[in-house]
Amino acid sequence: MARHWYSDQPQNPYSRWHRKYEGLAYIDLDAIEVCKKCTTPLAIIELTKDFGQKFKTFKLTKMIADKLELPGFVVYYRTKGIMDDEIISFNVQKVSPTITNVFKDITPGKWVKYLRKLHTEHAEVCEKETVYDFDKWEGTDPE
Ligand SMILES: [Zn+2]
Repeated sequence: MARHWYSDQPQNPYSRWHRKYEGLAYIDLDAIEVCKKCTTPLAIIELTKDFGQKFKTFKLTKMIADKLELPGFVVYYRTKGIMDDEIISFNVQKVSPTITNVFKDITPGKWVKYLRKLHTEHAEVCEKETVYDFDKWEGTDPE
């Protein structure tokens, strides 16, 4: 018996295949902010377009973020228009470690500043972060 399809996203071949089997379940992860140098996860993020909905489920996002001891978020993004994908603002709810209220009308600049802060904090402990990476040295020697 086919299971109900819960998402507004188109089904991929794996999803169609998976749904044939009773007793199995899976959920897509939306976004994992990662270090660009070592791929260490920095935040677990559930994404949703802001249609004025009051609530987006985040049970799995919180479970994963809690287990990894990373910040977890639901990010509602608002675009300029239905046919214009330019993001103009975010509503953001932190769901890990604690669940906060939804912070409204966060500018793209403010959200990127927060994301950069996660990267900066990680850089202090990143194994791939070095001041001089001589293996990748491509410049000329300093005088
Ligand atoms: Zn790193």
